[in-house]
Amino acid sequence: MQDQFGRRIEYLRISITDRCNFRCQYCMPLEGLPWLPKQDILRYEEITEVVRQLAPLGLRRLRITGGEPTIRPQLASLIRLLRQIPGIEDIALSTNGVRLPEMAHDLAEAGLDRVNISADSLRPERVAAIARRDLSFDLVRAARAAEDAGIAPIKVNVVVMRGINDDEVADFAALTRVHPWHVRFIELMPVGELRDLTWEHVVPSEEVLQRVRSLGALEPDQGPVRGNGPAVYYRLPGAVGTVGVITPMTHTYCERCNRVRLTADGRLRTCLFGDHEVLLRDALRRGEPLAPLFTKALAEKPKEHHLLQMRIGGLRALSEVGG
Ligand code: SAM
Ligand code: SF4
Repeated sequence: MQDQFGRRIEYLRISITDRCNFRCQYCMPLEGLPWLPKQDILRYEEITEVVRQLAPLGLRRLRITGGEPTIRPQLASLIRLLRQIPGIEDIALSTNGVRLPEMAHDLAEAGLDRVNISADSLRPERVAAIARRDLSFDLVRAARAAEDAGIAPIKVNVVVMRGINDDEVADFAALTRVHPWHVRFIELMPVGELRDLTWEHVVPSEEVLQRVRSLGALEPDQGPVRGNGPAVYYRLPGAVGTVGVITPMTHTYCERCNRVRLTADGRLRTCLFGDHEVLLRDALRRGEPLAPLFTKALAEKPKEHHLLQMRIGGLRALSEVGG
């Protein structure tokens, strides 16, 4: 399964809800978004059918995301359904981690392989201020719960914002000395209807790495095996985990893009940005084959996005498109 530029597409990110129990400053307005009507959202059986039809075309790896996927009831039952599809080798979850301590065991038992936990601060008051909800999130507790359940690798995603949490870069990096976790610093993308965050808050990854170097020299590292994404990894001397950077604002990695996205309401999006999408839901509900629509979507997958030129405005929040 290749697109018109010869990129092999084997990775699908599946958004299972547009809703969230957080309101992260960089992602969602405090009052929420106009939520999708329930009847438009794909049922677990429908998501499973999409994957079942795409797997023979070369789909190998899945990531369940949102919104916040853990707030949709019975998440483990979806993972169990997806796990049974021949050809699917790897199932990952992206979560804000709030519900991981109570769910990790069931998710692992259902067949979840790996998890990415978003965490923008190690200080409880600051977590609540950035997420604009106080749900007592504690990264170390969440990641340990995943670890104890046998989920691996564990990646931690930190969106770095100048003047908001950039003073914690070294604290996050220090976690990798004692935990086998992969802490990845993401450049803030000032997208959606952000009112308080601008390009002034973007901290280029070079600057982030400079701060990490205050702890010791950084050696390039391959990072976790089987990684699907654009992160570049390093290791501090003697550390058991790694530090990574993801640089959507200062670099593009479109030429290596191996992914497409399924939105909660059944649209196949071939690029995170822009309007490249094909509605699968109606064909699915009419019982029509999806492969032709998928081939059409891939033929239209753009060569690259223009986020770096677009600046603020006009882009949808990542929670809507399954970031
Ligand atoms: N709710 C889950 C979570 O927070 O991990 C999954 C969905 S969230 C949209 C996926 C990832 O997108 C998170 O790591 C989040 O930090 C990141 N993200 C959302 N908006 C972003 C932005 N404007 N800039 C950079 N990263 C962003
Ligand atoms: Fe929710 Fe994730 Fe967006 Fe934060 S980044 S508001 S946790 S979807």
